[in-house]
Amino acid sequence: MTRFATRAVHAGLEPDPGFGDVIPAIHQSTTYVQTAPGEFRDQFDYSRSANPTRDALERGLGDLEGGLASAFSSGMAAEHALITAVCDAGSHIVIPDDLYGGTYRLVDKVLSRWGLEYTMVDQTDLDAVERAVRDDTRLVWVETPTNPTLKVVDIPAIVARAQGAFVAVDNTFATPVYQRPLELGADAAVHSMTKYLGGHSDAIGGAVIVRDEARHASVRFVQNSIGAVPGPLDCFLVHRGLRTLHLRMAAHTENARVVSEWLQDVDGVYDIRWPGLSGMVSFRHPEAKKIVAATRIFALAESLGGVESLIELPQAMTHQSVEGSGAAVPADLVRLSCGIEAAEDLVEDLAQAIG
Ligand SMILES: *Cc1c(COP(=O)(O)O)cnc(C)c1O
Repeated sequence: MTRFATRAVHAGLEPDPGFGDVIPAIHQSTTYVQTAPGEFRDQFDYSRSANPTRDALERGLGDLEGGLASAFSSGMAAEHALITAVCDAGSHIVIPDDLYGGTYRLVDKVLSRWGLEYTMVDQTDLDAVERAVRDDTRLVWVETPTNPTLKVVDIPAIVARAQGAFVAVDNTFATPVYQRPLELGADAAVHSMTKYLGGHSDAIGGAVIVRDEARHASVRFVQNSIGAVPGPLDCFLVHRGLRTLHLRMAAHTENARVVSEWLQDVDGVYDIRWPGLSGMVSFRHPEAKKIVAATRIFALAESLGGVESLIELPQAMTHQSVEGSGAAVPADLVRLSCGIEAAEDLVEDLAQAIG
């Protein structure tokens, strides 16, 4: 097998059979001509079920994560598909106590109404994870590094303590450049492609990548039945993003290293977190609310993983849905998504904002 950078550039891309385009055309068609009733090319009968532009992206994602991929219209749609494919009404799942707010909301506000039960646990405490797993636990949901406090969870150690439950890892932050959950023993990797995979803040999408053929078929069944599929243009944009993923992740990570080292000596800044593995940095400061409104290059916005730098206050923005729960975040926490601008400009911007 070729090295990651080579695969990132080429994964899922074969010249278009029609004209030999090096970059295959974007297939907008919703349907495909059949030669006889029920006879059609490959799996292409209707674009909710399969679409060549989506198929290319799915093959690319599968190659980079080392499994079988399905693409969705958002990260949340991908999560919903995997959880409903793995669990039944009344199943129990284990979730982390620091996680993407939307994941908590999906489990606590939507799926719990259909009988899904959950236990929330600090997954850096492996004994606590082991105690949380019950006889009826179907799924252990892992997010690492966690969002927004950037704790790192030991995936093989969780797999060893899952007692046979399905282990899914939200790999949105680290991406397959730094972490490939299937190689570490997990059963699935999940992505918000909206973030680093797309990388340019111009497409919403999600993905599930599994190892097992039967599980893949069950995820595909939900994908087609629920129909939360991404449009061809969004698939094209994310696929283009994959081709520079390794370069962008290196630049994001280096900028985050410079920023987090500079923050160490700034008055009032405490609890700086940067575990490596991405451009995500968090820190606390009593004037957090004032700081996030005062940056000029860091845009005050939700989301992350684009080439431009973003700053936000999780408690008031991305993590409102966990307020009052076991996953609530402190009010003085600032989260940075360091882009790929010049590191010196990012530091100067934070310096004038922190004052
Ligand atoms: C953004 C995000 C999601 C949800 O993805 P959408 O594409 O916004 O639906 C899930 N997990 C993590 C870690 C995220 O950052």
